[in-house]
Amino acid sequence: MTEALEKNIRKVVPYVPGEQPQNPDVIKLNTNENPYSPAPGVARVLKSMDADLLRLYPDPTNGCLVKALADYYELAEDQVFVGIGSDDVLSMSFLTFFNSGKPILFPNVTYSFYDVWADLYRIPYVTCALDDQMMIKKEDYFKENGGIVIPNPNAPTGVYEPLETFEEILQKNTDVVVIVDEAYVDFADGPSARTLIEKYPNLLVVQTFSKSRSMAGMRIGYAMGNKELIKALNDVKYSFNSYTMSRVALLCGVEAVNDKAYFEEHVKKICETREKTKKALAALGFSFPDSQSNFIFAAHKSMPAKEIFAALKARNIFVRYFNKPGIDNYLRITIGTDEQMQALEAALREILLQA
Ligand code: PMP
Repeated sequence: MTEALEKNIRKVVPYVPGEQPQNPDVIKLNTNENPYSPAPGVARVLKSMDADLLRLYPDPTNGCLVKALADYYELAEDQVFVGIGSDDVLSMSFLTFFNSGKPILFPNVTYSFYDVWADLYRIPYVTCALDDQMMIKKEDYFKENGGIVIPNPNAPTGVYEPLETFEEILQKNTDVVVIVDEAYVDFADGPSARTLIEKYPNLLVVQTFSKSRSMAGMRIGYAMGNKELIKALNDVKYSFNSYTMSRVALLCGVEAVNDKAYFEEHVKKICETREKTKKALAALGFSFPDSQSNFIFAAHKSMPAKEIFAALKARNIFVRYFNKPGIDNYLRITIGTDEQMQALEAALREILLQA
């Protein structure tokens, strides 16, 4: 490569996603997927789908899924935007809303993609440290900025912030877009910030089908907000044809949204397993912030996380280890089925006894 070309290529710090082992014997607790099948209607759509339909391009407005989500949340269709996983919705929101040149704000620690997108799109940013309870310090978000993004519950901590905190942040930031990334909110005891979108026209709430609806492999995410924000997102989307959802994803997404009972039953089950897992981990000498999500961010009182991670992996149990300063003694453990968590507990007991 010539020196000139190399200089022009955008340099970013790549996001290294969690490992995706192909061995079916692995107990996979490392990327916060849902251990249960998607709603049964999804399998019905896949089995009965007429492949001939795939000759035709899909509806670029994602109309059927936008309508299903709007009906489900009692919103107008022009308050909902659908995209290819919430990563796409978020990255498109960065492109659309965060170009004032002023630094955007997000917590440290938080979801590892925010600084990757900021670097990629040349958006300046400042991170705001969490307090010793791993909660955000709302005053940090009162200074001048070019936009704010905060996940609730946060990742990888699992900590849920009350809506009053977001109200205060929104009231102090009426000139910028505030994004609340709610990938895990369905597992929280508290409400979604969706209930605030009528009150705050600068609020964008982003959710996903990857966790609570068990469809990470289908790639569906969505945003809810004031119709002007949604229109801006659609205007940007229509300038990139690559952001069109597949026909398969649209049809399966509608099925998943329409099966409320299945969704609620399985979210409840995961939360129950999470509470049991908290007790088991505490008894084994782990400490963790109170998780309101489908994972637990845990550190052991004596054994380094890196060693526990390796010993679990050797037993075909994958959890997430972050090799990053400040959080390098933590493991992020996804909540699986009761049986998977019992296997984890047994393996941890053995590992810790041998240490
Ligand atoms: N936000 C947060 C906080 C996440 O943890 C994730 C998933 N790792 C996402 C967004 C993206 O999820 P998806 O693209 O699967 O919707």
